[in-house]
Amino acid sequence: MAPPKPRVRFVADAMLGSLVRKLRAFGFDTTYYRAGDDAGLMRAAAREGRLILTSDRALAERCRSRGLGVVMLDQQSDGARLSALARGCGAIGIELVKGAPFCSLCGGGLAPLGKAEVEPKVPPSVYARHRLFFRCMSCGQIYWRGTHWKKLMSLARRLDQKPVASLHSRGKAGRRARPRNPR
Ligand SMILES: [Zn+2]
Repeated sequence: MAPPKPRVRFVADAMLGSLVRKLRAFGFDTTYYRAGDDAGLMRAAAREGRLILTSDRALAERCRSRGLGVVMLDQQSDGARLSALARGCGAIGIELVKGAPFCSLCGGGLAPLGKAEVEPKVPPSVYARHRLFFRCMSCGQIYWRGTHWKKLMSLARRLDQKPVASLHSRGKAGRRARPRNPR
């Protein structure tokens, strides 16, 4: 059996904190690089094999000139940033495969938590309404899939990538034929 393809991992600059939390919830191993300078961020990306996400055009240029993978995200909302990330990754041949959620706060792994363990730790209304709970194995944060989770997951659809063929411009010679739209 072929080993599973390694999933893309990200490192994001200090301006992208809310995007980092979302990417972690969608199951992407994402480092939030808040402290330190651009050189440190680039070193960390190279060392850990992470794709750099930045809102800083100058930093994006420096990354490209050093051969580091980077996607420039200067949009105003996380929804628009996620769409741009899907396009940017598609353009450089990176597939966005969502995985099991990580802790939004610290990026740690989540483990299921039994209801008995949960009861003293969450509001009674939350305890009554939900069946599945998870705890971060690093920071102890408890998660459940409430309305916030549903909203988040609808945003995750922005990461769905179009088939690679449709990313290229039409009419190029040597391209594989696409099936015709049956309508
Ligand atoms: Zn955590």
